[in-house]
Amino acid sequence: MITNKQLADLIFPNVTETIEDLERRYPPRNLPEGAEVTRFAPSPTGFLHTGSLFTSMICRKVASQSGGVFYIRLEDTDTKREIAGSGEQLLEQLQIFGVNPDEGYLGNSEKGSYGPYIQSKRADIYCVVIKHLLEEGKAYPCFCTTQDLEALRLEQESKKLNPGYYGEFAKCRNLTNEERYERIKHGDKFVIRFRSSGDYHNKIKVSDLVRGQFEIAQNDQDIVIYKSDGLPTYHFAHAVDDHFMRTTTVIRGEEWVASLPIHVELFAALGWKAPRYAHLPVIMKIDEETGNKRKLSKRKDREAAVSYFIEDGYLPEALIMYLMTIANSNFEEWILSNHFEGMQDFVFSFKKMSLDGALFDMGKLNFFARELLAKLNKNEITNLAISYAEKYNPDLYQTIKSDQNYFTEIMNIDREKANPRKDFEKFGNVLEIISYFYKDGYDKAISNGLQFNEKFTKEDIIEALSAIEKELQIGEDEQSWFNNLKEIGIKLNYAANNKEYKANPDNFKGNIGDLAEILRITLTGRKNAPSLYAVMALLGLEESHRRMECVISLIK
Ligand code: GLU
Repeated sequence: MITNKQLADLIFPNVTETIEDLERRYPPRNLPEGAEVTRFAPSPTGFLHTGSLFTSMICRKVASQSGGVFYIRLEDTDTKREIAGSGEQLLEQLQIFGVNPDEGYLGNSEKGSYGPYIQSKRADIYCVVIKHLLEEGKAYPCFCTTQDLEALRLEQESKKLNPGYYGEFAKCRNLTNEERYERIKHGDKFVIRFRSSGDYHNKIKVSDLVRGQFEIAQNDQDIVIYKSDGLPTYHFAHAVDDHFMRTTTVIRGEEWVASLPIHVELFAALGWKAPRYAHLPVIMKIDEETGNKRKLSKRKDREAAVSYFIEDGYLPEALIMYLMTIANSNFEEWILSNHFEGMQDFVFSFKKMSLDGALFDMGKLNFFARELLAKLNKNEITNLAISYAEKYNPDLYQTIKSDQNYFTEIMNIDREKANPRKDFEKFGNVLEIISYFYKDGYDKAISNGLQFNEKFTKEDIIEALSAIEKELQIGEDEQSWFNNLKEIGIKLNYAANNKEYKANPDNFKGNIGDLAEILRITLTGRKNAPSLYAVMALLGLEESHRRMECVISLIK
């Protein structure tokens, strides 16, 4: 008679370590009471999804605020889905957003004493645990071929039964150890399955930090834990890793709720205390076409990938802060009253998470982004614009480099004051917003036509611009410049203020605001621009006059 032990030795002849050895190698962490050990466990299968940034940001926050540890583990056991280089890229992107791990996988290296932190390098650890489960009869080799499984699927489908490898359908569960031994010796291919003792008709109570307690059907599937390529599957690997890496709280997307019964059963079978779980709501958006809520989609939505925000030149903090408003509804008020001074002191709470799908709102993100950019001084914003432009926006880069001081002064208009202008939400459209400060941008803008108020004839406009060109000086300061403009206006019969104009509109050509608008449209090609004085001062008299001449000859 072949014992489980003999079978386990046949499958894993070289595995001599035991679970106790692993327990000693990865002892419980020496952390203060209440410290949380969290992890972000991406699979290297593509770009960093905005939802994953959301998850990892919360993992980071929960560890930091409890004095714990946040680590990264690369879950690369699904070699078929792996995209080369994406692990490194994920890490780089996390770094950009300031989500830095205390330990774990770091791209080209790793740090910490609970490693390796790349699952494909942990095969020997998984084998120790699988060997143990085989010895205990809680796992068994399964020789079913793809065809066998396909036939099973069809049978279950025709009988309208739950699909899968369970109960009476788990054929290899009932083989004798002698049969198993023979087939393995004979070289038959096999995987190893976990022997579930659950019943789908029974419910178990599980508790979740976001959802509270709820009931869910027990697992009854004999899931594969060890594949024929010598690597474990995600469900099994994550349980082993979270145990030996001493994770206290698993924070992940709600798509994993359905797998919770498997995970709970695996921990119980191994006699380990399961970590606490927090399943985060999926990030949704309102579909532009249908008006309905739907998940952010990798295919349809640029904002589903964090690279979008990087390439468009958002400040990383803006997205992180915005994601925190999705996470905790009280954050927005908190950060407003903290004048956007950073979120280190904000205390995140799972209890304050909303369950019904967090809604991604670009408008609100842009609001955050504008607030943060408005807080920077002129040199900070210039330097950030340069580093962005250098990588992602050659036109902006060339423009800045053509005269860096000029750019800095443009960015400084209405900036260093108590209530600064909030024109910019991202570096990606800075050039569009300030293009009229540059000759090409200005010429292009006016070639698209000028929208002067229709109550003025072209003669009125020519008269106004000619007078301004002759008489308006930039002057000492905004006040003297404006007084100068007013004098010119009065001579041309523009009312000096709106009150005077309103009292007797027929006596005047317009009011001083009308004259300023003629000048604004002339100098910028648009109706809305920051302080006209600042614009004119920056352009200088010569360029301002050139623009007036241009407009005069254009409308003549
Ligand atoms: N590797 C899994 C994923 O790609 C992680 C799930 C978990 O955090 O447990 O989403």
